[in-house]
Amino acid sequence: MRVALYPGSFDPITAGHVDIIRRGLEIFDRIEIAVAVNIRKTPTFSDDERVLMLREVFPHEPRVEVVQFSGLLIDYARKRGIRSVLRGLRAISDFEYEFQLASMNRRLTDEVDFVFLMTSEENYFVSSSLVREVAMNGGDVTGLVPEPVARRLAARFAAEASG
Ligand code: ADP
Repeated sequence: MRVALYPGSFDPITAGHVDIIRRGLEIFDRIEIAVAVNIRKTPTFSDDERVLMLREVFPHEPRVEVVQFSGLLIDYARKRGIRSVLRGLRAISDFEYEFQLASMNRRLTDEVDFVFLMTSEENYFVSSSLVREVAMNGGDVTGLVPEPVARRLAARFAAEASG
């Protein structure tokens, strides 16, 4: 059984993340989406909301599991007996950070390997932070995020605007 851990903050999950997960399922039997909780930067969506949204997006996919983790990723992977970490690459800009991250993790352990997948072209420019920015200013995020996420974004920023 090939299992991959797909870690991230997913604040919120976008079409780019979904693309990586779908591609990952072609290679791995199971994917554990590991939501980083207790992160230093304050997220727009709480730890529980980010987990809930991911579960809403994959309700009928038994090969996808959503879990939370904090602390070192490799410690979590080791505890779960997982040896592959899935990450997505957009343009060249992602490479440097991802290279650093994978190299640091390799320095910490040799038991875990990072696997990188590219999204399709239409998701090259999609990021959680840009999606939040667009939604916050009343822009249309249809197609950039899964439907349930678009609804939650609209509700969140409508509530903020009226409150
Ligand atoms: P982090 O805060 O760890 O970067 P993210 O939730 O932003 O977590 O992203 C998780 C992973 O998904 C990262 O590997 C990131 O590069 C990748 N990713 C995010 N958006 C896209 C996208 N549009 N196309 C490909 N990969 C993406």
